[in-house]
Amino acid sequence: MISVFGSANMDLVAYASRAPRRGETVTGRMFRTVPGGKGANQAIAAARAGAEVAFLGAVGDDGFATELRETLAVAGVNVERLRRVPGPSGIAHIVVDDEGGNSIVVVPGANGAVTGPGKEDEAVIAASRALLLQLELPMPAVVAAARAARDAGVPAILTPAPSRPLPAELLDAVALIVPNEHEAADLTGASSPDAALDALLDRVPEAVITLGAEGALYGSRSGDRLRVPAVRVKAVDTTAAGDTFAGALAVARVEGRPMAEALRFASAAAALSVQREGASTSMPSRADIEAAFAR
Ligand code: ADP
Repeated sequence: MISVFGSANMDLVAYASRAPRRGETVTGRMFRTVPGGKGANQAIAAARAGAEVAFLGAVGDDGFATELRETLAVAGVNVERLRRVPGPSGIAHIVVDDEGGNSIVVVPGANGAVTGPGKEDEAVIAASRALLLQLELPMPAVVAAARAARDAGVPAILTPAPSRPLPAELLDAVALIVPNEHEAADLTGASSPDAALDALLDRVPEAVITLGAEGALYGSRSGDRLRVPAVRVKAVDTTAAGDTFAGALAVARVEGRPMAEALRFASAAAALSVQREGASTSMPSRADIEAAFAR
């Protein structure tokens, strides 16, 4: 089993020629609500990639809560430890303009009420083969979950997004960090991915830097270095590519695949996701990944 301690958000997406300026109203051409949040996305990606997954997090007591819970459950994610707290669920309010650029306001809502894994969550983490973490919950809660994993000998895999400074006690408890190129640069101040990788390995045992259409770069403190190319595809929507990559990577690792193979499995899954619109709606099934992987 893989546990995911993280956020669930409803993405409220308006499509307009451009984002409004202050005081201005623009008429958009389409609106949709899409279940998301990095935690929920990674949980769904891992479940669809073939793992048993438990989601540890919180939703509010509004209509979005019901839809978020349902979306996770339909994807096969265990939501027994998804708490319902008073108030609104987390949302991301997104305007996508005609050039594909976006402006986003995230309101954490119920995610902001998560103070840490409770005793029961810690038991789930301890019974897992891996714990997936991101940074859309309050930092003390993320640190506590990473520590619970480390104390139980369970590898914690951290996607350090949205980008922010990381306390040493978090990095000390993480087994593998998976930033994209921008997050890696923010964390290390390094100007190239290779330099960023070296700097990350001073702080965590293993690191993967994802490089979008350029693939990914892996390194370990024991001296391994791997570079995997991205699968060449026509990208339609790269939302949640990184979350799909992290979820699938965790699945492959838990199955005991060697790192080179795990990276190819994750790249195959992420490449499939960028060929489809949306976040949770774009994550490939195990069968789709295996078919792409075999090519
Ligand atoms: P994030 O979504 O977190 O910004 P990246 O953009 O680095 O992360 O993408 C994560 C992974 O998704 C990449 O390592 C790659 O495997 C895959 N990917 C992203 N964009 C593309 C693309 N245009 N074509 C194929 N694969 C892609």
